[in-house]
Amino acid sequence: MNPKDLGTKVPITWCPGCGNFAILNAIKPVLAELDEEGLVPLENVVLVSGIGCHAKIVDYVNANSFYSIHGRPIPVATGIKLANPDLTVICFSGDGDSYAEGLAHLIFAAKRNVDITTIIHDNRVYGLTTGQYTPTSPSGFKGRSTPAGLVVPPINPLEIVFASGGTFVARGYSHGIGLLKDIFREAILHQGFSFVDVLQVCATFFNMYEYYNERVYTLEDHDPLDDARAEEKIREWDYNSDASIPLGIFYKEEASTFGDNFAKYNSKISDLNGTIKKTLESYI
Ligand code: SF4
Repeated sequence: MNPKDLGTKVPITWCPGCGNFAILNAIKPVLAELDEEGLVPLENVVLVSGIGCHAKIVDYVNANSFYSIHGRPIPVATGIKLANPDLTVICFSGDGDSYAEGLAHLIFAAKRNVDITTIIHDNRVYGLTTGQYTPTSPSGFKGRSTPAGLVVPPINPLEIVFASGGTFVARGYSHGIGLLKDIFREAILHQGFSFVDVLQVCATFFNMYEYYNERVYTLEDHDPLDDARAEEKIREWDYNSDASIPLGIFYKEEASTFGDNFAKYNSKISDLNGTIKKTLESYI
């Protein structure tokens, strides 16, 4: 399959230079490749998005999709996966979407190890509503709601997902499609909750290209199975400092998924119901 076959006729309305283009241009070839290799048939793929500039991505990829509501793409994706475990569910969300209103969903999806891939378009600003701060905006950020500069520090979303039990934790950057493609492919093939924070530059309201270009580097000789090393690398940059910014797959672990555990739970409930029924019948 040619990635071009995955395009749609919907006009793309992102601003010129927006980092969302990189995510779109990385996910299409990965989906085409996985379909071609017979690893993930396209008819089994479902894309889910929330609300924000990122969310338009589902209109631009010719695949099954669900445009959900603000902060809720993860529970929607979880429901789809539980209802039909044969589907490969990829959830796109924004920092204002899943790090603010939807943060609890992110934490619980990581804790439960829901077998979905979550890609966060982390531009560190509310772009669609023209420039308010989000949970990953740095201290001092001047936007429409903080004209004198943000006084609180940002969160490190990788640290939150890692501490919540996430079994695949990665970071990409919208200036570098090769690495994004590698990460997306691994994330989709991972059994369990895959989390990818993409430093997706908002060219219009928070242009960070120069800042990132001076600091990013790709992890090399890094063992993602080493949790102590993963934690160290995740903490290397806290979304606020001028430290170097590592990109790549920080952590990976095999563990039973929410779907596996849910199926076991349902079978125990069935056994329990059978026992209760027999006990009640014995009294009749
Ligand atoms: Fe991209 Fe920012 Fe424009 Fe939204 S406002 S489309 S995030 S550049």
